[in-house]
Amino acid sequence: MNLILLGAPGAGKGTQAEIVCDKLGIPTISTGNALRAAIKDGTEMGLKAKEAVDAGRLVSDEIVVGIVKERLAQDDCKNGFILDGMPRTVAQAHALEDMGVNIDKVIDIEVSDEAIIARLSGRRVCSACGASYHTEYKPSSVEGVCDRCNGALIIRKDDEPATVLERLATYHEQTEPLVEFYRERGKLVVVEGQEKVEDTSALLLAALEA
Ligand code: AMP
Repeated sequence: MNLILLGAPGAGKGTQAEIVCDKLGIPTISTGNALRAAIKDGTEMGLKAKEAVDAGRLVSDEIVVGIVKERLAQDDCKNGFILDGMPRTVAQAHALEDMGVNIDKVIDIEVSDEAIIARLSGRRVCSACGASYHTEYKPSSVEGVCDRCNGALIIRKDDEPATVLERLATYHEQTEPLVEFYRERGKLVVVEGQEKVEDTSALLLAALEA
């Protein structure tokens, strides 16, 4: 199954992608994780993307389309994939169509702005593997340490309060139009984000089976 996870920053796309990935055995393609890895490694792409990512703005369509195109060409995407955080603009959605990528379902995880702000303030991510945690809703077994790889958990630079507001504004302006874009194509499934991760994933997995 070829899936897109849509939703505001902090709606839980990354965590839900991990759950669906484990359940269906299909890889997640996270442009945010790919960009953070490139920034950490200091690659040419990372240098180009750093300023926008740190400020909570979108990086160029050209960069993210390039990341996804390269990743989708790999063998493990043949039986399906989950796109987490891409497309984020209508131009990126058109680029996927132009590549001939067939999408089965687009899951929009809906969460209010107030809940997003509360969630992002408690979010912690693994500096090594990118796994996502929350101090209250999804704590790691040992504080500050990743359950998966023992990496150190950190606060993302773009989860700082001023940057979160910028990211939310960017979402409403540039990404939210994709809800209509995919509704018109009959691909959209809306899932109400719940307080508990497992409650959202139960709704999401049911929506995939429907
Ligand atoms: P995420 O981890 O998905 O919240 O992404 C973190 C940051 O990476 C975003 O705030 C953007 O700066 C950048 N980014 C990730 N995916 C995209 C995309 N599809 N288009 C543009 N910028 C992106």
